[in-house]
Amino acid sequence: MSFTIHGIGVSGGIAIGHAHLVSHAKLETAHYVVPPHQVPDESVRFDTAIRAVREELEEVRAGIPTGAPAEFGAFVNLHLMILNDSTLSITPRKIIEDEQCNAEWALKVQVDALLARFDEIEDAYLRERKADVIQVVERVMKALAGQPGYIPPPPRADGEGNLILVARDLSPADVVQFKRHQFASFLTDLGGVTSHTAVVARSLNIPSIVALHSARKLIRENELVIVDGTQGVVIVDPDAPALAEYRLRLREFDLERQKLRRLKHTRAATLDGVHVELHANIELPGDVAEAKDNGATGIGLFRSEFLFLNRADLPDEDEQFEAYRKVAMDMEGLPVTIRTYDLGAEKRSNGTDPRTPNPALGLRAIRLCLTEPRRFLTQLRALLRASHYGKINVLIPMLASSVEVDQTLSAIQQAKKSLEEEGIAYDPGIKIGGMIEVPAAALALGMFTRRLDFLSIGTNDLIQYTLAIDRTDDAVAHLYDPLHPAVLSLLSHIIKTAEKARVPVALCGEMAGDVMLTRLLLALGLRHFSMHSAHLLDVKQQILRSDLGQLKPLAGRMLRTTDPGKLQVLLDELNS
Ligand code: PEP
Ligand code: MG
Repeated sequence: MSFTIHGIGVSGGIAIGHAHLVSHAKLETAHYVVPPHQVPDESVRFDTAIRAVREELEEVRAGIPTGAPAEFGAFVNLHLMILNDSTLSITPRKIIEDEQCNAEWALKVQVDALLARFDEIEDAYLRERKADVIQVVERVMKALAGQPGYIPPPPRADGEGNLILVARDLSPADVVQFKRHQFASFLTDLGGVTSHTAVVARSLNIPSIVALHSARKLIRENELVIVDGTQGVVIVDPDAPALAEYRLRLREFDLERQKLRRLKHTRAATLDGVHVELHANIELPGDVAEAKDNGATGIGLFRSEFLFLNRADLPDEDEQFEAYRKVAMDMEGLPVTIRTYDLGAEKRSNGTDPRTPNPALGLRAIRLCLTEPRRFLTQLRALLRASHYGKINVLIPMLASSVEVDQTLSAIQQAKKSLEEEGIAYDPGIKIGGMIEVPAAALALGMFTRRLDFLSIGTNDLIQYTLAIDRTDDAVAHLYDPLHPAVLSLLSHIIKTAEKARVPVALCGEMAGDVMLTRLLLALGLRHFSMHSAHLLDVKQQILRSDLGQLKPLAGRMLRTTDPGKLQVLLDELNS
């Protein structure tokens, strides 16, 4: 019997294949007493499991294909660091010895205690990584059960060779490992739009759906499934007409992708000749190659905080300078917009204090930078020094008030002055911009257009703060709505106000890479998009097929309606 499950599509496209269910080892385990003479053996068993998982993760790291998104390595390193922390790799041994219990029980006791006091433990790194700790412990449990690593199922004899991975949740390290087994899609019960798995799946361009809630219960091993990552729909055990329809769509989709490659060097302009700037979002310098390969004419958002993550120390001025200079030089004179570190909410480095009751509303982004002038100055000096080697723009995250801009500008002045005193060159014409991602900033835009050279709209946060929806919480992920009338109205207001003030404005949130929203954004007046490289050619194609003259009246009607049904009809009309 065919049926459909709905989730949140985090990476578009279609996959047809057979389900392979991955069961994660539960953190539930039996307790048994180990006779004294066998305690040393039990300790050795524990050490062996830790070593096996370490080797497993190191193998995953070594197997990361060259040119894979930089997040991969960072995520695997994170899991290795958790594993190597003495709380997990040493303390359970002591429990085995003290309590004369089995290794699984010792690990469980230690992890339970750890998770229970998660918010208070001293190690900032572990505190922030509850989900990652669980994933690492699950690996150790598996290793203890004598089944380390992942054993792929045998290839199928029938024509439908694709495997669709169905899991409760996946760690990024799992995704890297599974990638090598050529899964055609990832389906998970948990996860939000911005979960690690979603980020990795999106950058791999594999159709994937998260927050399916009960896929693992409803889908049986080997069952035929269709994944429509664009719609966020899974069709289980499809009937013949549905299968035929999706096979056709899949062939069309593959052909489209091949054709898209030809657009790499095509100038992005609408049918009526309006030029649009298409830039790439990157996390680390290594991502530049993919951006160029997809025809990016600049880097619109370098999330510099990724240089600060997954490490015990902080990158010093020289290390940062080298990273920024590399990106600027690799882009060969094309603009590179580097955001000052946006740490403090879900992204945290070792030096930041995470004990805040509501991180998204707490000391994050520019608020945090301004409370730690030394660290901020280090970054500003590195950015200015690198600006001598290419076209660097500096972007300030999460501005809400004019005081923040003034303080930031004076910190930049201070950094310039210190470089001048040392005779170090920087680009005197370097542009400073601000991210508009707080509704207050959007509504009082004049405070920013008067003080800054350019703006960039961060819709991921703008939507979070406008709709009061935690973007990392899968329980409210379905309420995350870029088409909410309040969001559209804010976007229109920002773009129009900036245009009037003659201040360039870009959009660098996930909306920029959503091809279903390209025409709407064009019609609202947006001329500068920045997105993950994987989406650049899709969006370019949509621009090339768009006639602005025709789009504007429809977008005007969209702005005037508050009926979600009508909005969808108008959007469909806009995209037809
Ligand atoms: C945004 O908020 O839209 C954005 C681009 O920044 P980040 O996703 O890194 O918060
Ligand atoms: Mg943001």
